[in-house]
Amino acid sequence: MVQRSQGESAVCEAANPFEGVQRRIDAICERMNIDQGIHARLRKCERELMVNFPVRMDDGKVKVFTGFRIQHNDTRGPAKGGIRYHPDVTLDETRALAAWMTLKTAVVSIPYGGAKGGVICDPKVMSQGELERLTRRYASEISILIGPEKDIPAPDVGTNPQVMAWIMDTYSMNKGYSVLGVITGKPLELGGSKGRFEATGRGCMLSAKMAAKHLGMNIKEATVVVQGFGNVGMVAAKLLAKEGCRIIAVSDSRGGIYNPKGLDPEDVLRHKTETCSVVGYQDSETVTNAELLELQCDILVPAALEDEIYKANAPNIKAKLIIEGANGPTTAEADEILGDRGITVIPDVLANAGGVIVSYFEWVQGIQSFFWDEAEVNDKLQHVMANAFEEVMSISQHEKVDMRTAAYMLAIGRIAKAITLRGIYP
Ligand code: GLU
Repeated sequence: MVQRSQGESAVCEAANPFEGVQRRIDAICERMNIDQGIHARLRKCERELMVNFPVRMDDGKVKVFTGFRIQHNDTRGPAKGGIRYHPDVTLDETRALAAWMTLKTAVVSIPYGGAKGGVICDPKVMSQGELERLTRRYASEISILIGPEKDIPAPDVGTNPQVMAWIMDTYSMNKGYSVLGVITGKPLELGGSKGRFEATGRGCMLSAKMAAKHLGMNIKEATVVVQGFGNVGMVAAKLLAKEGCRIIAVSDSRGGIYNPKGLDPEDVLRHKTETCSVVGYQDSETVTNAELLELQCDILVPAALEDEIYKANAPNIKAKLIIEGANGPTTAEADEILGDRGITVIPDVLANAGGVIVSYFEWVQGIQSFFWDEAEVNDKLQHVMANAFEEVMSISQHEKVDMRTAAYMLAIGRIAKAITLRGIYP
């Protein structure tokens, strides 16, 4: 979350991200006349585990870390969702992220529910040894919830394939045999899927292309601003540049760079790898993350954290199209402002679903012990994304609602049907 000066806070809009999700769920359930019992279930997370666990740090001292694993809903299949390592992780943020996963897996119609995990820590200042010990202990602590048939974690902000490998190994050691399917986003050498690393960014690129087509925008002439230059933003920038877009600004947590003539994402990545930040890149002007969001452009890809577009800056956004690479980058109030201003938002639960779609492919390939080549993975991803996009677009046009409302309607309709079919136990 961005640091804001007083009076600028998005807190007045919803007390926390989970309350924001609950409000959106309320609005959709009321609009669709969803059964009161189903609505009440969707407002809550099914299972919430909070763990406080010790890790021996490199200086010999023991530090206690707090982590969470939350399953929002598993009606349509095993709970699914990433693990976040970040100093600002909270219980309510993890709840919101878990709920978005339930909606996301339903929007793209893959047989999963939604979950999320997180540890309050700053992986940027921890050694590899500390990260490994933290990961292994956290994995042991949450092993009462996770498993290949019940809850399958994956990478999120601050975690990567190496962290997934440690979780897979720890879970397997406790079981006594190798359990590859307990996690996705694994390294290729350990049953990972080709195309998984790029999948979220690729899904953003595909969403941008499909949305641009509907808007009559020529993608080859589009100017693009990307907030966040991690796994999602960096890949989205790279693939959009390949489609002919001009990437005029990108940023990371330390700030942004702007060049109206265009930036080469591959070269910016080289600079970031060398210096740990995009800032300072040659032939570019330095901008703040706040300024970056308000730059003149055709497509804006917020691919950092939640609540970046909120009441105060929404009136100043100049993009025509927003592709939500991050989860929850737009507050509900900002959404309304953007809608009134005629800006199209392709919501997170659709735009960034590429990651969990290829996670699903990884899980399926692991179960059948037969792995596909990258072209096949990308082709199947494109197919799932295109179907979901068209279904959401069709609801948006028929019901005359924005794409987020349409995506929520599609998802909640599917989840409600599944809940009704299963009934209530006992
Ligand atoms: N963390 C990613 C997301 O928010 C991927 C989750 C997954 O692959 O399970 O969608």
